[in-house]
Amino acid sequence: MSFTIHGLAVSNGIAIGHAHLVSHATLEVEHYVLPGRFVDEEIVRFDEAVAEVQAELDALMAGTDPGAPAELTAFIDLHHMLLADPLLMDATRQLIRERRCNAEWALVQQLEQVVEQFEQIEDEYLRERKADIVQVVERVLKVLLGHPGHPPKHARGEHLIVVAHDLSPADTLQFKQLKIGGFVTDLGAATSHTAIVARSLAIPAVVGLHHARHLIREDDMLIVDGTRGVLIVDPDPRVLEEYRLRRSALELERTKLKRLKKSRAATLDGAEIELAANIELPGDIGQVKAVDAAGIGLFRTEFLFLNRDGMPGEEEQFAAYRSVAEAMSGRPVVIRTLDIGADKNLRGVERTEANPALGQRAIRYCLAEPQLFLTQLRAILRASSHGRIKVLVPMLAHAHEIEQTLALIAQAKEQLRGRGQPFDEGIEVGGMIEIPAAALALGVFLEKLDFLSIGTNDLIQYTLAIDRTDEAVAHLYDPLHPAVLRLIAHTIRAGERAGRPVAVCGEMAGDPRLTRLLLGMGLRQFSMHPAQVLEVKQEVLRSNLAELRRKVSRLLDTDDPAKLRQQLERLNAAN
Ligand code: PEP
Ligand code: MG
Repeated sequence: MSFTIHGLAVSNGIAIGHAHLVSHATLEVEHYVLPGRFVDEEIVRFDEAVAEVQAELDALMAGTDPGAPAELTAFIDLHHMLLADPLLMDATRQLIRERRCNAEWALVQQLEQVVEQFEQIEDEYLRERKADIVQVVERVLKVLLGHPGHPPKHARGEHLIVVAHDLSPADTLQFKQLKIGGFVTDLGAATSHTAIVARSLAIPAVVGLHHARHLIREDDMLIVDGTRGVLIVDPDPRVLEEYRLRRSALELERTKLKRLKKSRAATLDGAEIELAANIELPGDIGQVKAVDAAGIGLFRTEFLFLNRDGMPGEEEQFAAYRSVAEAMSGRPVVIRTLDIGADKNLRGVERTEANPALGQRAIRYCLAEPQLFLTQLRAILRASSHGRIKVLVPMLAHAHEIEQTLALIAQAKEQLRGRGQPFDEGIEVGGMIEIPAAALALGVFLEKLDFLSIGTNDLIQYTLAIDRTDEAVAHLYDPLHPAVLRLIAHTIRAGERAGRPVAVCGEMAGDPRLTRLLLGMGLRQFSMHPAQVLEVKQEVLRSNLAELRRKVSRLLDTDDPAKLRQQLERLNAAN
């Protein structure tokens, strides 16, 4: 039966495909249907992996000290038992045989079944054993990873629509390796990092669907309308046809936009506008080049730290930053220092704060971990001798944070001089304006830093007191709130007066409906997902700056949200 669910549109476009239900662990594995002749071999592969984990546990037991705590041996025994549990193991074999799922996929599907049953258990002790099951499954998956199977050609995840209750930014990052048509989640909001990663992958997505994971069955036919925030389950043929046509029309529009790649980003009255790109990983550079962005305006380096057990060391980070600097051949590359915390967490670090977005995030974390920060700063500085790198510091609010950061940069430079390693002595250091306190007390920022970049995602979150990842308050997340607009306009104006460049690198910069508004505030530097650059350029090309400034100044005086929206509509409609 066909039905429709409405959610939040977070990544434009239309995806049509079959549902694949996942929990976060499943994203790390490939999903494919085995050619019939490989089924027996796949079961052997699975059994061998289980035997290998059993041997690992035996070795662990043999190596334990006789005086080791009883919990340790009990834990090994429990894992042994789970490895023999028919509910987990036999059922997995059955899935491989009957549905021809590859072993990894079969195992995680079964894991989800078991975990769901555990969640119903009243006894807290037993309920918590869920973590042990996940650990055992992860051990088997790790072994399977080392002994790959036989995916049929062209079958790797194509046209799959991932359906999940929730996805972390780290989970979503896995989509970069798997080919996914689109995704939908029950939780989530438009500027959560999960949504941001979806946009950077240019895959249609709808979040905040509440019960989608529960209502949708594996393999259901789905249409994801990432522009309107609609999910259609089991569509009738007429609707399917209509969406196929709309998808083709969108593709055509995208092709047309590509013609703008080489045109200068300048307004009708000749003002040059810098349209740079945001990236999460060095691998995103291909997309940046495809639209010929003016530079990298935001490299979210924390993504190098996710989905791994240890931290990347100085050499690894240096190689990553250098590769981006070199690939951009002299165009500016703004590297943001580690913004960990809130919804982006290091593996294995249990966060216990009640309000992680207000906790030890970004620069607060880095200043509390100076060795980790110095390692990153040295890596960035070393890369600066291979291109035009600038450093950007997130979440600053206090003068002493700026001072401590600058002192640590000076210390990192001194360490490199001591080692005789080259770097750009005049490297520019900028600060993100994403806390209202920073926007309202810009003096010290303008005095001590070389440039500013407004992070509107957080600026909105902190101005309006809305957790940007919480769909329950997503309707209150409003980039057009007069307070938000005034903070942005004030920052741009103050930068202009002090002769300090100001960019916007939050999601507002990539929204073509807001391009004219930002231009009218005086903004000259935008940084956004590469996928948005040409659409925003199209807006720049049809805008007259002098006119916009007058109109936007009137709009900023408006307190009435309805009037403000009307004014914005008129601003966008005018020729
Ligand atoms: C922002 O807050 O607007 C920003 C660009 O940083 P992030 O989205 O990574 O927090
Ligand atoms: Mg931010």
